[in-house]
Amino acid sequence: MIINKTTDSRLATFDQENFTFGNTFSDHMVVCEYQDGKWGDIKLMPYGPLPFTPAMMGVHYGQAAFEGMKAYKDADGEVFLFRPERNFHRMNKSAVRLAMPEVTEEMFIGGLKALVDIDRGWVPHGEGFSLYLRPVLFATEEALQARISTKFMFAIMATPARAYYPKPIAVKVSDHFSRSANGGVGYAKAAGNYGGSFYPTLLAQEEGYDQVIWTDDCEHKYFEESGTMNVMVRINDTIITPKTSEKILDGVTRDSILKVAEHLGVKTEVRDLAVEEVYNAHKNGELKEAFGVGTAVVMSMFKEIGYKEERLALDVLPEDESVAQQLKKFLTDLQANQGEDPFGWRVKVEKGYADQFLK
Ligand SMILES: *Cc1c(COP(=O)(O)O)cnc(C)c1O
Repeated sequence: MIINKTTDSRLATFDQENFTFGNTFSDHMVVCEYQDGKWGDIKLMPYGPLPFTPAMMGVHYGQAAFEGMKAYKDADGEVFLFRPERNFHRMNKSAVRLAMPEVTEEMFIGGLKALVDIDRGWVPHGEGFSLYLRPVLFATEEALQARISTKFMFAIMATPARAYYPKPIAVKVSDHFSRSANGGVGYAKAAGNYGGSFYPTLLAQEEGYDQVIWTDDCEHKYFEESGTMNVMVRINDTIITPKTSEKILDGVTRDSILKVAEHLGVKTEVRDLAVEEVYNAHKNGELKEAFGVGTAVVMSMFKEIGYKEERLALDVLPEDESVAQQLKKFLTDLQANQGEDPFGWRVKVEKGYADQFLK
């Protein structure tokens, strides 16, 4: 890894009490370029724009995939990643599906650790605060030829994320649009999956919803995901979520919430979840909670589910009655090193990790 530290840090201008998520970037980024059949040097450099041509293949043919994860700072100023190997393997699953070269562990995990170590001042501390990390892999060859690119870029950037208490959301069960299909790219974190979901989401928002519940593309009879999150419901005392498949993305939060639930003795079922089952459970008063789970906001509770002509209202339970909130709290405490980690999920970023690359 080649490290080129900024001589012009913006950290002094970073106000932890007042910043916007997603367009405040830390001082550095990681960049690695692929050509002639191999990856070049891993470079950690000042964050900033890079020159690209509009003939870059990734823009035209959508060979692009990304990851999303977070670094957390505890009360002593130590910084931790959370299950980064899951994101590493998922990035490479996406790479294979999109015919892009896989990234190495040194690039992905090593790059994350070096970036977070050098920019550890950018990891805000406090409940719900974190540094959001965005690895991305995309085709960069300059050619308007519809084929696999021969040049790629892998990059990692970081943007601080604030504590924010997500408002309960209204979701609409899709009876027409689909996010993914059998044999498609739904399980990959393909950039195009997001591009394709914006329009149906916009239409749902025009009807007063926040997000779309994606259903199976054949019959729209089964729950798949909620917006860009995995979906879970609690019917009586059991948390139910669809099993991952080639249409359902294998979320790290989904897997973690399931394992936390098992650890806390909450019953879970991973199986097909029919819209009709959720509808009937609501009618019978057995649908206690429904929510989406993902890295960005961890958990979004549903206050309303739109299905055909009906809008099913859901009570949002107070924290001490909400099983979902209990699971979320265990998970976020674990991530921030404020609670036990019976699973060994926290990965500490040692102070001075990046020094080994500085000569
Ligand atoms: C990223 C993503 C998720 C959530 O995955 P996490 O690893 O929990 O952040 C769920 N569904 C889709 C479609 C996604 O892209």
